[in-house]
Amino acid sequence: MRASRVAASLYGARAAVCEMPFATVASDSLGGVGGTCVLRGCVPKKLLVYASKYSHEFEENHGFGWRYGTEPKHNWSTLMTNKNLELQRLVGVQTNMLKNSGVTIIEGRGKVVDPHTVSVDGKLYTAKNILVAVGGRPSMPDIPGIVHVIDSDAALDLPSRPEKIAIVGGGYIALEFAGIFNGLKSGVHVFIRQKKVLRGFDEEVRDFVADQMSLRGITFHAEETPQAVTKSDDGLLTLKTNKGSINGFSHVMFATGRKPNTKNLGLEEVGVKMDKHGAIVVDEFSRTSVDSIWAVGDVTNRVNLTPVALMEGGALARTIFGNEPTKPDYSAVPSAVFSQPPIGQVGLTEEKAIEKYGDVDIYISNFRPLRATLSGLPDRVYMKVIVCANTNKVLGVHMCGEDAPEIIQGIAIAVKAGLTKQNFDATIGVHPSTAEELVTMRSPTRKVRRDAADESDQSISNRGNNRQVSVFQAAPEKSNPRLQPVKNGDEL
Ligand code: NDP
Repeated sequence: MRASRVAASLYGARAAVCEMPFATVASDSLGGVGGTCVLRGCVPKKLLVYASKYSHEFEENHGFGWRYGTEPKHNWSTLMTNKNLELQRLVGVQTNMLKNSGVTIIEGRGKVVDPHTVSVDGKLYTAKNILVAVGGRPSMPDIPGIVHVIDSDAALDLPSRPEKIAIVGGGYIALEFAGIFNGLKSGVHVFIRQKKVLRGFDEEVRDFVADQMSLRGITFHAEETPQAVTKSDDGLLTLKTNKGSINGFSHVMFATGRKPNTKNLGLEEVGVKMDKHGAIVVDEFSRTSVDSIWAVGDVTNRVNLTPVALMEGGALARTIFGNEPTKPDYSAVPSAVFSQPPIGQVGLTEEKAIEKYGDVDIYISNFRPLRATLSGLPDRVYMKVIVCANTNKVLGVHMCGEDAPEIIQGIAIAVKAGLTKQNFDATIGVHPSTAEELVTMRSPTRKVRRDAADESDQSISNRGNNRQVSVFQAAPEKSNPRLQPVKNGDEL
């Protein structure tokens, strides 16, 4: 959508988009203008997140004096009907956006038949350039009984609320749906094959989010890999893992990643190269191994986020039609996990920052937000700011807690602009807010030094990838909020 709209409206290119008719669950012949994000991903997911958050808010508000005559009840079909009406509306909005930009819509399934020709349900269309932006599809391991499980497409459009659901996976989708179903009062069990959820995220955020989700009633099963799913006569499902079996699930959902949707598009036949995961291999300008064929978005398996795909599409239109070769810029891409509580992050994790820069200062705040003082709930907020010790630049910010996605969007501007901790410190906080903590953290919680010569008793642990690094940890805040003196430390 982005590539065709920019190409047509900004550069006057003749552009057409080929897309299949709308359905909530995608298939080989159904999809819809708007694609995964609008119809089977970010947007409907966020609507369900909103729906599910109310139960926590009902719990919170007792401490603020609210009482209800009866327990609040949720009507599943109202939610599904309204969500689907909104999706229908969005298909119309997206279609109009294309038309208003001067883009032609060709409805049907497309197949590339030569480097300049696409066949749509048997009718041939020729073009100087072809862009493949078909995204990805849920992928599941091939284990016995996999036919009984649902994927995220189906989970967004269930006819009734799951009584008890097993969710396999510990990534974005698994955690977001765990929060949704928990908030809507299903029993939720999450099975992860690692020790922790969210591989690749900041280590402490990984622990924090799992703790907070557990406190809200989700049961995590760590280091449990699914081996089979069976269905009993009463329709209930059993999940067998390497550690045993758990039964009585009304639903089992697999959120075990997504794969590029490159099958049956004619790409191999025309010579478009793919990697071992089926992702289209592209150069820095999103050009495939066939000169006239380009690819952007999840189908290239670079950074699989909608706003990144939009950037890639815009850059591509400029490259081809604007006479301005433009590479997508992947630095400081912010992202959020709409778990409950949600996560927002931008820039490097602590582990990556140490690997890249060696000397970093880490500022951490883990606190009870004002709202929790009266709600009485065990909700907390976690924030981490990672600073390069040599340049004072903020390398990464990670947050888990209410409003983290909204807060991190603003912070991402500062990180992208390469601002320093001094810039953060010079910024006045908005009071009273959770976000103000990000500009009021004055003392590092720890200083990590790659080549600290003195292995004194201030060096309390070693971390990092085969590098000798020393960590100088602040004393616990209650006894002494200041850092212990460090060998080459600045006065803080
Ligand atoms: P992820 O790759 O994030 O997570 C997949 C999870 O499934 C991992 O925990 C992985 O474990 C686990 N897994 C994979 N295979 C198996 C298996 N055979 N058995 C057990 N566990 C397995 O994928 P998602 O499906 O959550 O999300 C797909 C993509 O969608 C992501 O790239 C994400 O960027 C995007 N997305 C973004 C959102 C956002 O921006 N808010 C929301 C939703 C999706 P392990 O760690 O061991 O590999």
